Amino acid sequence: MAVNLQQGSALRSRSYENDDFQGMVLKMRPTKPLYALSPKIIKQAAQEFIAAFPGLPLYAVKTNPDRQVLKALKKGGIQAFDIASLAELKRINSLFPNAQMHFMHTVKTPEDIRVAYFDYGVRHFVLDHEEELFKIMRETKLAQDLNLTVRIALPKNGKALIDFSKKFGACFEEAVDLLKKCRPISKVLGLSFHVGTQTTDPGKYAKAISFCARLIEASKVNLDCLNVGGGFPVAYEGDGDMCGLHDYVTAIQNALDRHALSHLSLMAEPGRILVAGGAKLVTRVELRKGNLLYINDGVYGGLFDAAKWVGTRYAVSAISCDRAFDDNFQEYRLAGPTCDSLDMMEGPFVLPSDIGIGDWIVFENAGAYSQSLRSDFNGFGYAEVVSVSSNKD
Ligand SMILES: *Cc1c(COP(=O)(O)O)cnc(C)c1O
Repeated sequence: MAVNLQQGSALRSRSYENDDFQGMVLKMRPTKPLYALSPKIIKQAAQEFIAAFPGLPLYAVKTNPDRQVLKALKKGGIQAFDIASLAELKRINSLFPNAQMHFMHTVKTPEDIRVAYFDYGVRHFVLDHEEELFKIMRETKLAQDLNLTVRIALPKNGKALIDFSKKFGACFEEAVDLLKKCRPISKVLGLSFHVGTQTTDPGKYAKAISFCARLIEASKVNLDCLNVGGGFPVAYEGDGDMCGLHDYVTAIQNALDRHALSHLSLMAEPGRILVAGGAKLVTRVELRKGNLLYINDGVYGGLFDAAKWVGTRYAVSAISCDRAFDDNFQEYRLAGPTCDSLDMMEGPFVLPSDIGIGDWIVFENAGAYSQSLRSDFNGFGYAEVVSVSSNKD
């Protein structure tokens, strides 16, 4: 079942030895897509991020709002959350009444601003346009305790899977103007950017910080906080050697030093890096036509990122339903279960040559942007979620 923010997801908690994942699948013999969630891995990812990053991480809730995921992050030390809607806000508030929530959508409804401010005590709001600033001022009845963040658009961005600056962010001149207007009414004034999700070049953060430095200088405004957004990557198939989190932190710190901005308090909005490794997605082969495998989940379900518009190549492995595979492998394309011809995943995905009907394909690193993006299109939305833990945990 999709992570439904109103009702929550069905979740059965089971205890399995982590090293006997295959045994678990063979025992369960799932006929529908199955998420095997590992709260321990998510907790560790949170701990690692917090240890490495010299500031406050806000978890980007949209990445995966499953309650077990959120609880694991909290156990790992995550205290603050980047929310974009009232549904996300309510989910966080119901689980962690004292958590800090930052309303980081640049286009909010007046009603949502009012409820967030007056009913839930939200004080952190982002904006990238003057009219949005007026909206926030109006709806909070000219509150004097706001912490406003100006989101900027970055100049053309190379190595990211999805460029976020086409849709969000103020350009240089607008941002300068917004900083000046926000300063008198902000207790804490911040700047934020998003270098793009799955950014594989730490230099992008350094460039973004240089851009911020010029902006701050041009505005002559005293800034308190810099939010470096999300974008920290995860290694998928074919990514080769990737920089580690410490390389990103070093690039960020060096850039801050270079521009004499080390006094700013730092924030980040990690999503993918915290939760991708925390789930495997088990799917089943329903038909094979040569090198094309028809499976029971696809781009309208948990494999949105494997569609041609993103092209993520998840690492995959196969579990046979009734025999041992021989040792030969070949490349496959995958087709999802819906009747839409866009529901295809070109990969290529390397799997046993003799894989066939009834065998399972396991997608690694399926904890980010999978559960949260499932739709019920064509009636194929259902997935089961089990929480897997080692008996030694
Ligand atoms: C989606 C999003 C994030 C998380 O991005 P990742 O690339 O998953 O780390 C952070 N901040 C904002 C504003 C977002 O929209």
